[in-house]
Order: sequence, then structure tokens, then C-alpha cells
Amino acid sequence: MQAMHLSARVGRICESATLRVTRRALHLKAEGVDVIDFGAGEPDFASPSVAVEAARQALADGFTKYTQNQGIPALRLALTRRFAERYGAPWTAEQALITVGGKGALFETALALFESGQEVVVHTPAWVSIPEQIRFAGAAVVEVATRGADGFAVDPDRMLAALSERTRAVILNSPCNPTGGVIEPEAIAAIVAGCAARGVLVISDETYERFVYDGLAPYSAAALAARYPETVVVVGSFSKTYAMTGWRLGYLLGPKALVDAAAMIQGHSTSNATSFAMKGALAAVEGAEPDVERMIAEYEARRDLLIPKLNALPGVRCLPPRGAFYAFPDVSACFRPGRNGSIAFAERLLDEAHVAVVAGDAFGSDDHVRISFACSRQALAEGLSRIERFLGAE
Ligand code: PLP
Repeated sequence: MQAMHLSARVGRICESATLRVTRRALHLKAEGVDVIDFGAGEPDFASPSVAVEAARQALADGFTKYTQNQGIPALRLALTRRFAERYGAPWTAEQALITVGGKGALFETALALFESGQEVVVHTPAWVSIPEQIRFAGAAVVEVATRGADGFAVDPDRMLAALSERTRAVILNSPCNPTGGVIEPEAIAAIVAGCAARGVLVISDETYERFVYDGLAPYSAAALAARYPETVVVVGSFSKTYAMTGWRLGYLLGPKALVDAAAMIQGHSTSNATSFAMKGALAAVEGAEPDVERMIAEYEARRDLLIPKLNALPGVRCLPPRGAFYAFPDVSACFRPGRNGSIAFAERLLDEAHVAVVAGDAFGSDDHVRISFACSRQALAEGLSRIERFLGAE
């Protein structure tokens, strides 16, 4: 029999390493192994009850048909109002698209904008799907490396120096998965101004917008959209902010021509995001702020428990992340024969200590592993003592 011929497009990408770890951890769990899962980037909180109730009511009311391709108008309006109130963004509901997760918004944006011969500038370490989506769309990824020693700071001059005649867009991710780094508002402003002058788009992935600590105020590139309406594109998600990962809802905000193109792609792929889920999301935007604030406070408390203990482990170095819910420690001093490099390290940790982390290699940094603190304090304590025993057992 002839081997299946897959497209060259598919050949340009590989499986999401974060999903792979989750699958392996799930497999062990199914075998009855007590796994501490620091791998998944998934809130351990229940979705807000206002969202659950609204979705339940929508189902009971028969709100189960296709909706407008761009998403229900009330949700698009609520989102643009929120961005206007918080950041002075000028967007109308026609400039908002509700997508199947933030992932869907980024994917449709990549398909709408990028093609072969073009470049997209990304700061690394980067969330796994960003470079894969760029390559899938046919463009090349230009990486600008950030370093753990300065909290993975993004330097606007280095980002702008990476632009070429072929650059179509810069993708920013602040707070960043996996590093927890937060890009300073001044740095974002400098990048947007530099890109606007060159006709390059800035796509700001703000999936973790609300998750900032140490009294930092959340910031969005939306604050620059009135001044640079043709440059600023914002992607967001209901997944992390509202602990609604399985609802699969995200959004795209930006220039109408881009939003229309992404909507057209969506029209030929998923049609629309799930009808009753959007009703739940609307209730979340309108009424789940207390839930969001409670979750953020708890993540910060967990971070404050985790980071000193991580740094007390022999060979582990980690500055406190200023945002998101990931620690990205440098564990290279713990590498030994048999657990050399982040992949072997993570695999041995899972197999021997039953602790799931994601190898930094997946994000473009082989010295690190990603530890999600979107899990209970109890799980954090147990996982840390397992890691300590694992590191002690030379
Ligand atoms: N962007 C970043 C940086 C992420 O970490 C994620 C999820 O992990 C997403 C986008 C997409 O999230 P979702 O598709 O669940 O909205």
C-alpha cells in the first residue's frame, strides 16, 4: 500500500509539545499513577457561575442554532465597550470577531496575513503555536531572543532591528507564555510606532492580559489603537481570564479589513463560535469581575509560594514572573547524563517523580522547563517535594 501523502503545509509544523505532555500525563493518570500536573496551562478554577447559568439558560431557550459568522452582536459590543473603557480603544463592534479560542483568532489572522516570502518577528521563548502558525501560513519566523537574567525583557530596539523589507508583522505576547515576562508599555509603544512607520502590523496576543502581579496595572496595545488604527491588532481569550478553556472562545480586534478577512476564513471553517457558549461569555464579561479578581489574587499567592522554593532547589534559578501563571526556571545546572537537555529532563521527571512539566525546548529554550502554577497550593507543595527528591537522587 502506498504511504499517505500529506500536504507540504502540514510538513512544516509539528505536534504541540504542551499538548503532548498533557497527553502523556493523562495516559499515566489513566493507568492509576498519581501525577502532579504542572504541564497544562489551564486554570484549575471552575468557570464563573454567571457564565454557566447564562449558557444553561441559552440552551434551555433553544439558542442552539448557527449565529452570525462574526459572533453574537451583544458580545462583540460588550468587548469593544470594555476595551474602550479600559484603554480608550476606538473599535466598533464591526471590528470585533468572536473566534474558537484565542488560538482560532491567531490562526485566522496568520492565514489572512502571511504568505511565502514574508517574515514575522517574534520574541522568544515563545508560546508553541505562534511560530507553528506562521510557518503553516507559509511565512518565515524571525526570532528575537530574550533572557531569563533580566526577566525575559523585550527590547524594542532589538525587535525593530529585526524588521526587513519582507516583514509583514511583529507578534507580541505580554504577559508571556512561557516566560511570565511582561513587556513595558513604553516598549510596546516604541514597537508600535516603529512598525507603523514601516507599514508593519503589530499583533498583540493578550491572552494573559489580566494576570499581572506586584501591583502592576494590566496593559493592552489597544491603548495605542486610536493613534495607530492600521497597525494595532489585539487577540484575546476567555480561556484563562474566566477559567473557560473548554468553552473555546477568543476574539480578534483591529482594522476592519483584517477582521473581515478573518471572519471570511472562519465562515469557511467553523462558521461561528458556539452559540450558547457566547451567551455564557457575555455574562462573564458583564458579571464575572469578582471571580477574575479572586483568581488573580490566588495565582499571585501561589507564585509567591512557588518561586522561593524553586530557587532553594539545587541548580534551579528563576526570577519571579511578573505575569501569566507560569514559572520558567533555568534548570540547566541540573542536567546530568541521561537527563541532559530539557526534553530528557522533563521525561525523566514525569516517569520517575510523576511530575509533569513542559520542556523549554518546545518554546525555543533548552535550558528551561515551564511550570504552570494554575494548580492547587497542595499540588504545588507536593510537586516541589517530588522535584527536590528527584534532583537529590543523582
Ligand atoms: N496565546 C497564548 C500565549 C496562550 O498561552 C494560549 C493558550 O495556552 C492561547 C493564545 C490560546 O488560548 P485559547 O485558544 O484557549 O483561547
